[in-house]
Amino acid sequence: MKTSIIWFLLFVVPCALNAQTKLKVVTTLNYLKYIVEEVGGDRVEVIALANPKQDPHYVTPTPRMNEITHGADLFIENGLSLDLWAKNVLDASGNPRIQRGTPGHLVATSNVPLRELPSEISRSWGDIHPQGNPHCWLDPLNVQIIARNIGERLAEIDPHNAARYSEQTTAFVERISSLLFGERLLKTIGPKAGDILTRKVKSGTLFEWLRERNLLGLLDGWMAQAADHWGMKVVSYHKTYVYFASRFGLNIIGELEEKPGIPPPPQRRDAIVEQVVANQVRVILNYNFYSREAADYVASKTGARVVITYIDVGASEEIPTYEALISYLLRHIMNP
Ligand SMILES: [Zn+2]
Repeated sequence: MKTSIIWFLLFVVPCALNAQTKLKVVTTLNYLKYIVEEVGGDRVEVIALANPKQDPHYVTPTPRMNEITHGADLFIENGLSLDLWAKNVLDASGNPRIQRGTPGHLVATSNVPLRELPSEISRSWGDIHPQGNPHCWLDPLNVQIIARNIGERLAEIDPHNAARYSEQTTAFVERISSLLFGERLLKTIGPKAGDILTRKVKSGTLFEWLRERNLLGLLDGWMAQAADHWGMKVVSYHKTYVYFASRFGLNIIGELEEKPGIPPPPQRRDAIVEQVVANQVRVILNYNFYSREAADYVASKTGARVVITYIDVGASEEIPTYEALISYLLRHIMNP
């Protein structure tokens, strides 16, 4: 009798609690929160620290952030020196389970193929992007990698629900593939269609490969939208859209910003005006958290259109999801 009570207290009670208690996950950015919710489903409770309407490079840690992270089971950051401010939050959290190097800490982008590595870019950009361009989530193929990283880590710290995390990760990854290529094309190609098409996109041979097989007419979704405007020239405020542009065929001919964080001086604006005219650029991308004064100036001199863009989920009521963020960008940039 005594043994069974001890067994009950030691095993049954903790298991029952475990089955009900959700994993507490804290993310730096809102797009990460969205992915954790998709992959973790009802097993997770997620809070994002940054305001999605603000520049993710510059977030001021607050005592409230320290409180939130104090009880977290898992802390997820974008990494690549974008959310460096996370270190201050971790230091002040008093939570040893989520410190760097522990299973409770994840850099979501650790294996994403990077652009603008320090050796490839001018030193002037080194200050703000010292590890390469960190805005990699704006390429849906990278978000699939990030979702897998998150799914695997959830399974590691909560093995009881590993199968569920795996299923939900697969569902999310497949949904992104469907939005990228269209359901009809995926069904026609059959099993592994998402992987096959991803390889073709990455090698820059998607359209050619589909054309050779008479499948181009079945292409739908984001890649079909992009195909209609491939090579479109744009000007951007900051180097935020290099991954998005590369995936969807935009040609960014220059940035308004000469030095990160410093509004473009008059001579810079005039140099961009010349480039916009010479390249017949029709669209200037200006983020919601930057002044649009320089963009408006260039537009007034050239007739180009200013498109207000976002980079995080939840930055506007129109973009409550990652899928909506990518759809918004494609729609507003490519269909003026
Ligand atoms: Zn940046």
